Amino acid sequence: MTTAWLAATAALEPNCSKPAEMSLFTKIIRKEIPSCKVGAGELWYAFLDINPRRAGHTLVVPVEEKQRLAELSAESRAALMEGVADAQRRLGKVFDTQDFTVVLHDGPLAGQEVPHVHVHVMPRKPNDFARNDDIYEKLETCEEEERKARVDADETRKARSEEEMEKEATEIRRAMMETTW
Ligand code: AMP
Repeated sequence: MTTAWLAATAALEPNCSKPAEMSLFTKIIRKEIPSCKVGAGELWYAFLDINPRRAGHTLVVPVEEKQRLAELSAESRAALMEGVADAQRRLGKVFDTQDFTVVLHDGPLAGQEVPHVHVHVMPRKPNDFARNDDIYEKLETCEEEERKARVDADETRKARSEEEMEKEATEIRRAMMETTW
């Protein structure tokens, strides 16, 4: 483990008897909760969103657990953007596009559900949504009932098995082995 990784995770191990509550995404990074990995760097981790708004919907998170972008160290923030670019290169190869919707809900009032900075990266294709900005409406929807209804209504947002998700993640992970970008 390097100094940078130790610094990024330091806040999770405070010097007191009560252990800090880890975020869902920290548990994913620590492999306490399963995820379909798309890529990773020393200070970031990218994985498929469990409730994809379109195929390839990826979340990129900093190892450093902070709720808001401004709270991250400059090093983590820069690494996060490297992670976003890395995910875009992989997704671009697999989904044959250079265009992405990249979204960050920076705090609960902005629609953040998980209090750990995360960037949504979604590859875009011509006419993938009836209206281009419909993708934002989908991102804001969090009610389970609505989610289920939309899964049925939208071909790009099918409920998927773990096997199906892992197949997609493997393809995206391998994409960089074949590209010269
Ligand atoms: P936000 O509304 O910006 O906070 O987005 C949180 C995202 O995390 C949502 O798109 C969820 O579908 C996604 N999510 C929640 N739990 C998991 C999980 N265990 N694995 C992958 N993605 C998740």
